[in-house]
Amino acid sequence: MALRSPEGVPDSRGLNLFDADPSCRGLLELHLDPGLFAHLLPHLTRLGAMAGAELDELALIADKNPSRLKGQEVEKNPAYRNLEEVAFGQYGLAAMSHRGGVLGWPEQMPPAAKYALSYLYVQAEFGVCCPLSMTDALTRTIRKFADPALVARYLPGLTSQDMDLLTQGAMFMTEQQAGSDVGLISTIAKKQGEYWTLHGDKWFCSNADAGLALVLARPEAAPNGTAGLSLFLLPRTLPDGSANHYQIVRLKDKLGTRAMPSGEIKLEGAHAWLVGDPQQGFKQMADMINMSRLSNGMRAAGLMRRALTEALFVARNRKAFGKYLVELPLMRRQLLKLMLPAEAARSVLFFISGELQKADAGDEAARRIVRLMTPLIKFRACRDARKVTGDAMEVRGGVGYTEEWSDPRLLRDAHLGSIWEGTSNIVALDVLRAIRREHCLEDLLPLLNGKIESAPRLLAGRLAASLDKAADFAHEAASTGNEAYARQAATGLYYACAAALMAHEGTRLGERGDARRQLLAFLAYVHRLAPRDPLRRVTTGYEAELAEALLPETPIAPDAAERILTRLA
Ligand SMILES: Cc1cc2nc3c(=O)[nH]c(=O)nc-3n(C[C@H](O)[C@H](O)[C@H](O)COP(=O)(O)OP(=O)(O)OC[C@H]3O[C@@H](n4cnc5c(N)ncnc54)[C@H](O)[C@@H]3O)c2cc1C
Repeated sequence: MALRSPEGVPDSRGLNLFDADPSCRGLLELHLDPGLFAHLLPHLTRLGAMAGAELDELALIADKNPSRLKGQEVEKNPAYRNLEEVAFGQYGLAAMSHRGGVLGWPEQMPPAAKYALSYLYVQAEFGVCCPLSMTDALTRTIRKFADPALVARYLPGLTSQDMDLLTQGAMFMTEQQAGSDVGLISTIAKKQGEYWTLHGDKWFCSNADAGLALVLARPEAAPNGTAGLSLFLLPRTLPDGSANHYQIVRLKDKLGTRAMPSGEIKLEGAHAWLVGDPQQGFKQMADMINMSRLSNGMRAAGLMRRALTEALFVARNRKAFGKYLVELPLMRRQLLKLMLPAEAARSVLFFISGELQKADAGDEAARRIVRLMTPLIKFRACRDARKVTGDAMEVRGGVGYTEEWSDPRLLRDAHLGSIWEGTSNIVALDVLRAIRREHCLEDLLPLLNGKIESAPRLLAGRLAASLDKAADFAHEAASTGNEAYARQAATGLYYACAAALMAHEGTRLGERGDARRQLLAFLAYVHRLAPRDPLRRVTTGYEAELAEALLPETPIAPDAAERILTRLA
């Protein structure tokens, strides 16, 4: 029995994670249609309550009881199965982009709705979000590229909310010699009339027992490199009910996502169907990869919010030296440093969600914006999540390091975001590639400059100058092929975009009485964009004033925000 004392360790268990995040509601009102927002509000409230209580408990149990391989069956702990049921079944998170009828909404839901719910879910459980995202993304990719008869066969299972009928998705790309360098894939595909057989070893296969996987392989006699790769759909069970010809060799023993089974798979003449154009295999797979990268950005944003919620709760309820932690100047500064990346990530996430919706409706400029912003959020938000989850753990003190609380699990899971679906270096290089090859900045900059214009003058001038500078840097690194600066360029661009977006949200929310995000935009400017001298003595007390305004997470009227900005500027 653990010791408990009312004056001792504050117990955040049972918090409603939606209600404990007061800005979330206003933000969602901005980014969702009013009718859909009103419809989703009770679902968000219920999911927030579950995420802070039973889902969190299930996630703790699942984390301590990893999946195991028994023969060719993956044995999952009942806690993990429950977590799957909530995500795929009750909330239909993998289905809602592909059909109506999920959560009582008659149409397919827009990306912002899916990400809003998943953002809340991931605050309790990160591991299940990988199969969720892969199922959702695989469905999207086959609907775009596969033979309609194949899509018709598998769509009902992929979008089912009945766990007995559900088919989950996976992606098998990585091989021992071919991770970042996908062009080195050596799995061979042999044509056998209607279908193909696959022969080779896949080295990292998350959701290893999924019913369907998209696989990259090289048809016999196809050229080397990515140009010679084709995309295949691999079922776990063949249409006649027999097991397909591949073996799960073993499951990985991982730092995080311990309950979600990632395996090694030996393809021994496994039957598979060609998807789309055999010469465009890698390009088609990029569609699934990019959706997974965006989902990773969303997950990082959610992990950071959970970490911030916990840190604020502890700081508001724990005393040291006769004061609540949140009253101590140095702690206030640290809390602001957790708040900024967490808030920045969700502004970027909801911006991309809106652009993705337009892109899917055929808007080419929006497609290019999504093309650039996806590796940007995957890179920066996933890196920020590593730090924010670690630093939030420290706010809880010694017990933060114990497995009784969510902190260690969040930290372990956060580290994965930066590695899979492209490491930090690889996605930062992809940012430069998007700028160089597809000229994505040309669509992004006018849009963001338009958003900045609505901010108070003192803020707008600084943000516009920062955006210019960050874009120039990124453009130069991209056009000169200066790879060594890819990460620095991506970080600058990400925060310049995030600041512009937060300022605009602040202006729009200000019309309803809350301009707090304008102050967050200013914080982004001071901490991430303005030139800094590490030895400069700060005499203005601007951080104390920002902490005073931002840490309570209560609305700030536009005139009050403008007064603060005028004083600080
Ligand atoms: C838990 C987990 C689950 C996974 N699930 C899946 C899955 O379901 N399906 C799947 O296909 N894969 C999966 N992966 C594999 C993952 O995507 C790869 O591990 C990742 O892409 C890196 O590839 P690699 O391990 O071969 O590392 P490498 O490619 O060898 O990279 C090693 C280091 O070199 C750096 N590097 C490589 N190229 C460059 C460059 N040009 N410039 C600078 N630095 C460079 C990388 O950034 C990295 O730091 C999973 C991985 C993990 C950890």
